[in-house]
Amino acid sequence: MLASAVNIDVKYLLPGQPVDITTGQPIPAGRWISLTCFLPNSTATTCSNITNAMINQAALPVPSTDITLRVLVMVVNVSASTQCGSRAGANVTQVENAFLGPNGYADFFGNCSYGKMVFDRQALKVVPVAVNCSLPIAMCNEDAISMAAKQALPADIQIGSYSHFVFVLPANMAVTCGWVGLAELPGTQSWFTPDNLGIFSKGTVMQEMLHNFGLYHGWKDGLEYEDYSTAMGSGDSCPSAPELWRLGWATPLAQLNSSSFPRATYNTFNLPATYLGPTGVMIKIQPDWLDPLYTKNLYLALRMKAAGDRDLLDQFSGKVRSSTSTHAMPSPRAVPLHYYTVTPTIHDIIITHIIKYYYEIIPLFYHASHHPNIPLPHRPNSRQVRI
Ligand SMILES: [Zn+2]
Repeated sequence: MLASAVNIDVKYLLPGQPVDITTGQPIPAGRWISLTCFLPNSTATTCSNITNAMINQAALPVPSTDITLRVLVMVVNVSASTQCGSRAGANVTQVENAFLGPNGYADFFGNCSYGKMVFDRQALKVVPVAVNCSLPIAMCNEDAISMAAKQALPADIQIGSYSHFVFVLPANMAVTCGWVGLAELPGTQSWFTPDNLGIFSKGTVMQEMLHNFGLYHGWKDGLEYEDYSTAMGSGDSCPSAPELWRLGWATPLAQLNSSSFPRATYNTFNLPATYLGPTGVMIKIQPDWLDPLYTKNLYLALRMKAAGDRDLLDQFSGKVRSSTSTHAMPSPRAVPLHYYTVTPTIHDIIITHIIKYYYEIIPLFYHASHHPNIPLPHRPNSRQVRI
């Protein structure tokens, strides 16, 4: 199924799995692609043939700073029809509290973004919506659900005054849907199951709403969702360093590459925890000396359980984390590599235990640049990070 770039509500059925014209390889599901679809007539929505299929570069970044979210939450319940039975909706007050209550989603977004993406608390509206059951709705067709919900809104709700639309599904849909959260990437709509993995999960809600701003999933060891340190993976904490950078929410303390950081030089950085941002909370390394193998940037950041990261898992708290992101793509797919133990004080974090760093990053540097292999100091209790 393919959505038209011209009219997003029109979907086209492909005759088969598209083959990438540049590689000759079948394109797996889940990619953003462009192709030419031949239609047998002007009203058809099934392509008789397709050509020129290729994977798109990620879209340009969606502006994600100075954002005030004006959110309309539609809590959908389904009334029985001849086609299918009724289903109850979620508790409206509980949904409202999840967004606006203490440590709710409004606080979470405000903290993680350092005030750059905030909910308009007065504008946020949670409204119960009753729709008649139809087969597409019972089959969890998200477009059918959102269209029916929008049409069934009370007359005093002005759709045009909202920036984002959240749909809470009726009970017992998770198995049929096969997801707990779904979002347009990029876009303005997101859908959630009415349970602790869906609308009542801060991580799920942040992930889906940040998909709306063009952010992809967090990965670990080649596995999607496996990064538990960010809401974009499976965590209940703020975005990771490359994601914060991409969103424009936080800035690097230093950006290191072959010109800004020449061979055989050393430097010392005191890296504050990300929650103390937004300024200077990550070290961005661009290993351009590896060219043409330079495909990823490396980010070092320290995470602590505080502010937006109050629910950070213990395994990441007080650790310096290195993540990579694909530098050629405007949107990083963050991949955590290693964790380093640190000695935290309140405002000044000094990094210790950096053995892995020496062995895994620096030798690569010298090897790749054909520089004589300079022995590096082995100081596991060093109180500085050296790059
Ligand atoms: Zn997602």
